[in-house]
Amino acid sequence: MADPDAIARLIEIVRRARARDGRGPAVVVSAMSGVTDALLGIAARAGAAETEEAQAQVEQLRQRHLAAARTLVPAAALPPLLAAIEAQLDELSAVVTALGVLREVSPRTLDVVAAMGELLSSRIVAAALVGAGLPGEWVDARRAIVTNDTYTSAVPIIAATNAALEATVVPLLDAGRVPVLGGFVGATVDGHTTTLGRGGSDYSGALVGAGVGAAEIQIWTDVDGMLTADPRIVATPKLVPQLSFAEAAELAYFGAKVLHPSTILPAIERNIPVRILNSRKAEASGTLITADPPASATPLTGLAAKRGLTVIDITSSRMLMAYGFLRRVFEVFEQFRTAVDVVTTSEVSVSVTIDDRRQLDAIVEALSRFGEVSVEGDMALLCAVGDRLRNEPAIAARAVSVLEEVPLRMISQAASRRNITVILRQSDLAHAMHRLHEEFFA
Ligand code: ASP
Ligand code: MG
Repeated sequence: MADPDAIARLIEIVRRARARDGRGPAVVVSAMSGVTDALLGIAARAGAAETEEAQAQVEQLRQRHLAAARTLVPAAALPPLLAAIEAQLDELSAVVTALGVLREVSPRTLDVVAAMGELLSSRIVAAALVGAGLPGEWVDARRAIVTNDTYTSAVPIIAATNAALEATVVPLLDAGRVPVLGGFVGATVDGHTTTLGRGGSDYSGALVGAGVGAAEIQIWTDVDGMLTADPRIVATPKLVPQLSFAEAAELAYFGAKVLHPSTILPAIERNIPVRILNSRKAEASGTLITADPPASATPLTGLAAKRGLTVIDITSSRMLMAYGFLRRVFEVFEQFRTAVDVVTTSEVSVSVTIDDRRQLDAIVEALSRFGEVSVEGDMALLCAVGDRLRNEPAIAARAVSVLEEVPLRMISQAASRRNITVILRQSDLAHAMHRLHEEFFA
């Protein structure tokens, strides 16, 4: 939700949805653009006792939200909204003063601050809907999304959240109204404000959609949907019209920026279709993600890539016929809290990729106890995804043969068999993605 223009588009989207569906929709909004970052910056400055600078930024946020409200809401309905915005910013200013004294920002306080972007934007959107003649009604997300107390990346408690949604959002839908909630924000059972982690608004959308039993969850973005390749590499990727939850999770995990896989979990569990749409092209059909779509017209569904990987090889004859070896190897990564993306093994060697190099030296040292260790940086992952890979083995063979002149460092097709992943030099990535895209999507 970039700016007042985006909110104006949102109003038209809601109007169309109501004309079509006769009920709802429930609306979950993100903060206005840059606001979450600004809030985190304010908290950091306040904690560093740069109180004056922090207060100046609070003032900027105040003016920006007041201006948006004035642009979107008719004068007669403005006073209570302006008062609510002022109260929220006054609270932020008080927190800044306190942090400047304490010189310490706890995760719990950080969430109080970070949540303000969505609390503000959702109030403005609710009032703007009313101003446009639609029955918008603000719902405090802290009364609707119940989470644990892992501040800054809180985990929703689904049963409690569904009960809270039943009490707050469902009655409004039943009464023909349009509930508006801030995404990203929740609260613990004792009412302490939490946030779901960066990008959490989509997740909130899925939680609300699943909790109220929505017919469809729509994620409105500024892109057309999921694409067949990384647009920074392939100039004219195609739109993926429809794909399965499983395919979307694989593509999203490895770099397709549109949505984070965990965000759609609540939808998967309730089998609710998720549609990604472009708010600037509201009439386009976007990308529809469902449990069991019809077979894709193309052999593959999409490509995704991830750069900046490091490959670590461990070679040891002690691995031959031994058991427990892999466990000891993976314990090293666990000990140094480093996630492994792709693994391949043979009888005497293991190769893994990591993207977090912070503990690399310690990891290499620990692994050296098991055998010879070698490390290669500047690697990339390229992954071809498609449900059809499961039943049509020729597709994987074709993908690998298209890449025959590219040195592949690792090749993996895991149990899901809907993905074939290769690890290659980062400098070969663009060429390899082009080749695959030409072969399967041109
Ligand atoms: N405003 C939050 C963020 O910037 C949540 C979101 O936009 O999804 O991460
Ligand atoms: Mg977002």
